[in-house]
Amino acid sequence: MSRRRFALRTFGCQMNVHDSEKVASLLLHDGWVAGDPETAELLVINTCSIREKAEHKLYSDLGLLRSWKQERPGRLVGVGGCVAQQEGDALLARFPQLDFVFGTHNLRLVPALVASAEAGLRRAETAERRELDRFDLPLRHPSLSTETPGRAFVTVMEGCDMFCSFCIVPHTRGREISRPALAIVQEVESLTADGVVEVTLLGQTVNAYGRQELRRGRAEAAGTLPFAALLRRLDAIPGLRRLRYTSPHPIFFDDDLMAAHAELRTLCPHVHLPVQSGSDAVLGRMRRRYTADDVRRLAERLRTARPDLVLTTDLIVGFPGETEREFAETLALVEDVGFVDSYSFKYSARPGTTAAEFVEAVSEAEAQSRLEALQALQRRLTLAYHRRRVGHHTEVLLEGPSRKGGQLQGRDPQHRIVHIDPDACPGAAPGRFVRVEIAEATPHSLLATPAVGGIPLRLPASRSGVAPSSR
Ligand code: SF4
Repeated sequence: MSRRRFALRTFGCQMNVHDSEKVASLLLHDGWVAGDPETAELLVINTCSIREKAEHKLYSDLGLLRSWKQERPGRLVGVGGCVAQQEGDALLARFPQLDFVFGTHNLRLVPALVASAEAGLRRAETAERRELDRFDLPLRHPSLSTETPGRAFVTVMEGCDMFCSFCIVPHTRGREISRPALAIVQEVESLTADGVVEVTLLGQTVNAYGRQELRRGRAEAAGTLPFAALLRRLDAIPGLRRLRYTSPHPIFFDDDLMAAHAELRTLCPHVHLPVQSGSDAVLGRMRRRYTADDVRRLAERLRTARPDLVLTTDLIVGFPGETEREFAETLALVEDVGFVDSYSFKYSARPGTTAAEFVEAVSEAEAQSRLEALQALQRRLTLAYHRRRVGHHTEVLLEGPSRKGGQLQGRDPQHRIVHIDPDACPGAAPGRFVRVEIAEATPHSLLATPAVGGIPLRLPASRSGVAPSSR
């Protein structure tokens, strides 16, 4: 059996991070071991095409990899993800140093593609698969570790049927398809038996889980449930302490989902709710199917169900034709809802989308100044929220050393980053819970001290492996 080493490099969203975990698990099952790019014989790059910048980064990386391959004969490079899905064979033709390409529906073919490449056959597999067997992957390999011990992603649905005018995802990830609930429950049970305490359910429009099957009268045959019913099934799994989901679409929050937020033991008080704009005119051009007031009402309903719930969001500035007034409406929505955090970007046209045809471009300088204004507002709102948390107790699931060093960092139920001095909390280690009191607020995170009786919960020791991720 081969004991050669692989490394993974990941761009983009959590869906991509999780796809990379699946690829790593497949390779481990196939006898490979995890390494780093310096020592690896196989490098897999999982790509993102949601913004032009990420795509260009891939092309420059592929250029640099020519010398990486020359350093050691027999080294292989594969590319997957959204750029691979879009470009397929064209990537092989353009980059002779590339050995294989796999699309977003073909993860399970990676070991076979590697074997072909070892035999000198360069292949691209990007066919869209509508069958459920694309979800049939072996259980997470025991030696796979993630950046965050105790936490795991679980895919519940893939693809998107919404076709927002700016978004390439329905073209790269295909149409909506939901996994049978039983397979999801079994995966979560297996993860919790293996020491996972926090699960994040993933889907492009995760709260649309099962809707197409229900609409077509196929829910029973497909084994799907309404999303809130799925949450209830998972909430009942012993050992599961935290349940999250990302990313929901604002139009798929029903009364049952509100009730789930009010009632479920494990469901965390945080929803990442991508709203993109606060202008009804822009939302119309984006084809988002809701208004700014719909978002205000939704935020109110969620907070009524769960008063300590935190909302974060995604925003695009400089969408074609966005006027100064329309941008001001986005600022107003962000302020009214009180988003605690946001990912905000300047609009970047993606070939193949409807919005790429829109001609009324906002100038780069104007888009930049709007982005800065939006981020300044967000910093103010984030800091204000963090200050309100000072003096309160919470529970942190520790992840590892903080970036600045000298401290441990973890996440609270609201998904805020919390830093703790390890000397003040003996026994604190990644993958353990610790009860803390928030002592200080910073613009990006919270500083905490152990609360009285804050004894870390012991979890199984973390396992070694790959933890590829870069946004
Ligand atoms: S809902 Fe819109 S933005 Fe989200 S993945 Fe689907 S098309 Fe893209």
